[in-house]
Amino acid sequence: MAFASEEEKTNEYLFKIVLVGDSAVGKSNLLARFARDEYYPNSKSTIGVEFQTQKVDVNGKEVKAQIWDTAGQERFRAVTSAYYRGAVGALLVYDISRRQTFESIGRWLNELQTHSDMNVVTILVGNKSDLRDAREVSTAEGKALAEAQGLFFMETSALDSSNVVSAFQTVVKEIYNIEQESYD
Ligand code: GDP
Ligand code: MG
Repeated sequence: MAFASEEEKTNEYLFKIVLVGDSAVGKSNLLARFARDEYYPNSKSTIGVEFQTQKVDVNGKEVKAQIWDTAGQERFRAVTSAYYRGAVGALLVYDISRRQTFESIGRWLNELQTHSDMNVVTILVGNKSDLRDAREVSTAEGKALAEAQGLFFMETSALDSSNVVSAFQTVVKEIYNIEQESYD
């Protein structure tokens, strides 16, 4: 068998990553910021699942992430099992200015674990860190929950771009490292 070229090797890595969390926490804007460096001040959730394939740099290597956005179905608390199927990574998102969205995290984590068939590399994301005056969830609380559940943690802002690339990269990098170890 011929050795795979560098390009073919790159194509071996396509990781499915899902965005999960309450409506209006900023999931679609995190993806828009990450994939296209765009931001929508008045985005309306649309119905139907969508995904976007994005190249991610991991230690100088190009890895492809297929990032899924709930695109509105979470409003009806009816994210289908197909959405989670095959996911190896997840961004569990709440809005630091709306406590209710933080309190929903347990339920989303439970749903993620119920529907996914493997150990999903998950980062807890407190989005809208730019809304300093409206903060209802402290950084320490977010960090504590993440530690208790064994999740990565980061506060982000899709508005001012803070930590958006890092949040996605953290997940992709960890998945990549786990995959590498399994071949060793
Ligand atoms: P989704 O329902 O979780 O996909 O949330 P959207 O991405 O549609 O965002 C919901 C609303 O929050 C929109 O009006 C966005 O402009 C706003 N939003 C999203 N991210 C941020 C952020 O980081 N900071 C602020 N201030 N607003 C945000
Ligand atoms: Mg959305």
